[in-house]
Amino acid sequence: MNPTIRPLTDDERRALAAARLVAVESAPYLAHALFSVRPVAAVGLDTFAVDRHWRLYVDPASLIEWGPLASGAVLVHEVCHLIRDHSGRADSLPGPVDHSRWNYATDAAINDDLIAAGLPLPEWVVTPAALGLDEGGVEEAYYASLSPEPPQTEVGCGSGAGDPQQAWEPSLDDPQTPGLDDGQVTITRRKVAHDVRDAVAQGRGTIPAGMARWASDELRAPTVPWRKVLAGMVRRAAALTAGRITYSYTRPGRRRLPRIITPAMRAPRVTAALVVDTSGSMTEGDLNTALAEVGGVIKAVGGTVRVIACDAAAASARQVRNPRDVKLIGGGGTDMRIGIAAAEALKPTPDVVVVLTDGDTPWPEAPTRARLIAVLTREHGMSRVPAWARAIHVPAA
Ligand SMILES: [Zn+2]
Repeated sequence: MNPTIRPLTDDERRALAAARLVAVESAPYLAHALFSVRPVAAVGLDTFAVDRHWRLYVDPASLIEWGPLASGAVLVHEVCHLIRDHSGRADSLPGPVDHSRWNYATDAAINDDLIAAGLPLPEWVVTPAALGLDEGGVEEAYYASLSPEPPQTEVGCGSGAGDPQQAWEPSLDDPQTPGLDDGQVTITRRKVAHDVRDAVAQGRGTIPAGMARWASDELRAPTVPWRKVLAGMVRRAAALTAGRITYSYTRPGRRRLPRIITPAMRAPRVTAALVVDTSGSMTEGDLNTALAEVGGVIKAVGGTVRVIACDAAAASARQVRNPRDVKLIGGGGTDMRIGIAAAEALKPTPDVVVVLTDGDTPWPEAPTRARLIAVLTREHGMSRVPAWARAIHVPAA
């Protein structure tokens, strides 16, 4: 039977907050992920699960029955599915995916680590030993070793663990229970990998071996595929702009009856403003790479770009005709709020404002009318970007 999805009540929220405290205490290096998941009540689910957009489905009855200790441990388990990208990795498995087998493989890999870290997992959880597997293995190896038809007990941690998407999962942009987009997911995962690596380096607590291995793999990966992530952000910002799919008679649809022009459904072009930080610590190299790349991404998704050079030292911002005309001034403080205000004052008003900065700037307190995307050349500026904006780190060339 399908669970009923709804926001958590205040009481449920408090109970979950207690479980999350337990989770953060037992796995502090996962704090960023534990606070990034979007909890939703799933009445009748009879457990916790996650989806691809980082929603955490919580059956309130399970939350009460397990209490904060066991709920906290299950919370850590679910978040591990997300940071270890078990949904993306399921897509990369050879042949048609045996979802049940994959869920056993991933559960065994996670729980192996969590039990080693001393987490009080419920005793019915899947472990490598219970499946006749060696400890310390990786998910794909467990998957390959398991027989195609494992013993049938109750498993299923949701589409965020690699299960098929369920009909009852809300869409990414569901107004009541919005999820995280691919850009936010990529960035959160990267942040957690940094935290795990730092915890290992400083010898803080017991970092499970599988978790440390995951973090070093994640950080060894070339870099965040930021062009893809940024293109996704721009596309999504455009789609969100008032859900503006309009009927247009300018380009006839393909299914055209003689002498009757059917309207073509087409999304309007994205108008974007690109605000460039000309002071601060950006180098010529940073600027040129980022300008070319960001401009290219916006054009690739069918957008038009206007460029604004923001000189915070002179407290001025002006539109430049050619991105090559952007000149770095250097020095002085940076206040990108001046450039953002200038971008929002443009006619026609931009749908998306992309700010290109080293990140050493204050940000507007209230959400801007245009969707705001911060492209940062220094990773440490990420934490300052307000939660309502999107942020991505683009490494200097
Ligand atoms: Zn699981």
